[in-house]
Amino acid sequence: PRLPAPLHMAAAILRARGLTWKDRLATLRLMRGLKAMSWTPPREWTVLHLLHYHAQSDTLIRQIWEPLCLAALNTPAATASAALFARVLRDSLTGSRENSDMLLPCTDLSALWPDAAARQVTMRYGNTVRQLRPSSEGVDINQERFDAAVLAVPPAFAARLLDAPLREAGATGLLDALKAFEYMPIATLNLRLQDPWRLPEPMMMLREESARDHYGQWLFDRAQLAGDTKAGELAVVTSAATGIAERNRQQITEALIDQVAEQAARHPARLPAMPEVAAAELFIEKRATFAAVPGLTRPLNSTPWPTLALAGDWTDTGYPGVLEGAVRSGLQAARVLNPAAA
Ligand SMILES: Cc1cc2nc3c(=O)[nH]c(=O)nc-3n(C[C@H](O)[C@H](O)[C@H](O)COP(=O)(O)OP(=O)(O)OC[C@H]3O[C@@H](n4cnc5c(N)ncnc54)[C@H](O)[C@@H]3O)c2cc1C
Repeated sequence: PRLPAPLHMAAAILRARGLTWKDRLATLRLMRGLKAMSWTPPREWTVLHLLHYHAQSDTLIRQIWEPLCLAALNTPAATASAALFARVLRDSLTGSRENSDMLLPCTDLSALWPDAAARQVTMRYGNTVRQLRPSSEGVDINQERFDAAVLAVPPAFAARLLDAPLREAGATGLLDALKAFEYMPIATLNLRLQDPWRLPEPMMMLREESARDHYGQWLFDRAQLAGDTKAGELAVVTSAATGIAERNRQQITEALIDQVAEQAARHPARLPAMPEVAAAELFIEKRATFAAVPGLTRPLNSTPWPTLALAGDWTDTGYPGVLEGAVRSGLQAARVLNPAAA
């Protein structure tokens, strides 16, 4: 609700549907408990540990905290880091009202940011960095000399490129940290229906039932986000999609379609039956983000060389693997290379 903070939170909790009063009060108890911990639960705690410590009911965990944890950390509550989760809650649910706005892009993410950024710089698309030699005078990239560089690739790639230079510099701690990340998949099933079909909301939660391969967590109605040219286009998204990544693609596609049709039929808004599916395309990004587990050692942006900085959502941003973290990391990398501009 567009009320000044913290009234917006109180109003949201009061108006939330599907929760008992006891559960609503329990959400407030968790927020108060986290505030009392200065938003820094013990480093080794998982999200589930934190939720049980603050006596959150199974319904609350299933309907609110687990979906939020999966969406923000791409890691299940049973294994996700309570410290990273608390940081997300602090920065989105406290402070000014705008902090808790949910932003849904009306255009695809490439058009929204990277394409616009690319127009301001010289891009060299398809140019894979295969060799990187940093020194105090500059950085040689594929045998071309640059004054300085920001290495903004996933940690496993950074480890490969920097393996020899880091060993020579005696920085094996950084090398080990780059190699220590584990990763979690995200799956997206894009559906094109034979006829337009409008959902009551642009983004709706699905009930997950893994025993029936109903792994879908969120359903997006593209027409409501990107305009009527996308009428009848849906996306079913699953975070921490290890179940999907291990299964037969055709079976999973059919099970996800079945899940959407079944849950739509049961929705109180009495939706018309889901039209036939004209086309379905399943994308599984196996290493979508790093697993946001407790006790991770995340590298800083600096390296043993003043000419080379690291950037990526996996650096020590205090955030899980999200766009906000990547942006903060990029800014910090720029400061490392040019402290005068900070
Ligand atoms: C399916 C999916 C859904 C997601 N949904 C969300 C979301 O809803 N909200 C959110 O906040 N975050 C989301 N994320 C996470 C978000 O995309 C990442 O946090 C963000 O992209 C990380 O940015 P980055 O700059 O650290 O790394 P990346 O975006 O991974 O960029 C690294 C780049 O390095 C390039 N590269 C690698 N090796 C080389 C090489 N040798 N030479 C040249 N280039 C190289 C890669 O091609 C890549 O473009 C999602 C991720 C996925 C996969």
